[in-house]
Amino acid sequence: MIVAIDGPSGAGKSTVAKAVAKKLGFSCLDTGAMYRAVAWQAVQDGVSLADDAALGELARAYEIAFGHEPGDPLPKTVSIGGVDVTDAIRTAEIDKAVSPTSAASSVREALVSQQRRIGSGGDYVVEGRDIGTVVFPEAELKVFLTASDEERAHRRVRQNVDRGVGSIDYDEVLADLRRRDEADSTRATSPLKAASDAIEIDSTGDYIETVIDRIVELARERKR
Ligand code: C5P
Repeated sequence: MIVAIDGPSGAGKSTVAKAVAKKLGFSCLDTGAMYRAVAWQAVQDGVSLADDAALGELARAYEIAFGHEPGDPLPKTVSIGGVDVTDAIRTAEIDKAVSPTSAASSVREALVSQQRRIGSGGDYVVEGRDIGTVVFPEAELKVFLTASDEERAHRRVRQNVDRGVGSIDYDEVLADLRRRDEADSTRATSPLKAASDAIEIDSTGDYIETVIDRIVELARERKR
């Protein structure tokens, strides 16, 4: 079974996806981490973020792998080309580099096929921007998770404080979220939008646990 969770930056997708996966006994795939890993590699290799073909070549050449602790279906680390980039992909520099990287159609092509391969290997909660529309249009449950800009920025700042990486300046984080939303929603290939059959959940003001429980309940109903 595939549970697709899409939505804008900072809507709580990662937290919700991990918790839902844990409760359902599913694994979890963070597709944003894959785009971030390719962006990181492009910066390392000095590849122009405007060069669609070169970015695509890079996305095909380097292997992205998620690391698990024994017995835990939820990944803890992400690596590209054998280098652990779990923290390195969360910096403000990569927040900026990831928008042009993910707008490259050749990168999307390479990563979407990897995502389909991973997700078809079992029960997955998959989070991203185009999971319900492009990657798994046949997903049994599609959720489009949103929250107000201000709440998303507050959550992202808290997350960055906890992780010890990324900007903790509220205004900077808010501006970056809005910039990425705009870039993700207006790009030509796979723009961010809710699938017509997605259930929209606005988590503003809600306890995240309420959102998690609702999605778990919906998934159990659909699985029967
Ligand atoms: O989810 P996260 O904020 O880490 O994603 C980083 C970026 O990766 C997004 O801003 C978006 O540009 C891109 N992305 C995408 N398609 C996905 C997941 C992420 O274009 N399925």
